[in-house]
Amino acid sequence: MIAHECGHHGFSKYKWFNDTLGLVLHSALLIPYFSWKYSHRRHHSNTGSLEHDELFVPKLKSKVPWFSKYLNNPPGRVLRLATTLIIGLPLYYIFNVSGRDYQRFASHFDPNSPIYSDQERLQIYISDVGVFATIYLLYKLALAQGFAWLMCVYGMPYLVHNALVVTIVYLHHTHPDLPHYDSSEWDWLRGALSTVDRDYGFFLNTLFHNITDARVVHHLISTIPHYHAVEATKAIKPILGDYYQSDDTPLHKAL
Ligand SMILES: [Zn+2]
Repeated sequence: MIAHECGHHGFSKYKWFNDTLGLVLHSALLIPYFSWKYSHRRHHSNTGSLEHDELFVPKLKSKVPWFSKYLNNPPGRVLRLATTLIIGLPLYYIFNVSGRDYQRFASHFDPNSPIYSDQERLQIYISDVGVFATIYLLYKLALAQGFAWLMCVYGMPYLVHNALVVTIVYLHHTHPDLPHYDSSEWDWLRGALSTVDRDYGFFLNTLFHNITDARVVHHLISTIPHYHAVEATKAIKPILGDYYQSDDTPLHKAL
């Protein structure tokens, strides 16, 4: 969550500090920092747009793959959910799965990817170096301590982290009450309000640094740090009125 805040330059008032800490934290989680930062910002400037959003973009009926109808039953949904939680995050970064349709191969690791502009490409290389440095370090650790030790200390927590990140983002952007808009109707504010605050109870909200129950305000003003997000949410609720969306369905039920 703090790594995410660094990408918005909301954690510290010093840009170099946000970028340095963001690069270290993201690399440690095998996520290319600047690559994520730029696509995440595009997600923030295009939330809820069918054509330009970067995350969990719903497919048009004409583009739904043929096998989807066979998965639309309880065992099929469990299978899809398990796949999304276990390998969804690397699939998104490597192949842009469930991301924006760029009409060609798009990867967060590829400096020539259509996701990025020419000024951003050099930083995609730096992000890749960060991830490869972590892989090299993990390889050295596996040689020194053994693969089983590495799986216990890094591998399993890594999978739990991935599942939590995917769960949070997934549930904030795919609520049945939240519309996606095509270019004839989309505008930034509509898109930003097309997200939902979810209350998972004190323990999980605190564990997730309130990214769960202060998500709407994050989409309106993304530089507010997590330690002020709940206070800011209280302030905007009466202003937004019916435009403020929230849901307190427990996490497992919502999934
Ligand atoms: Zn964000």
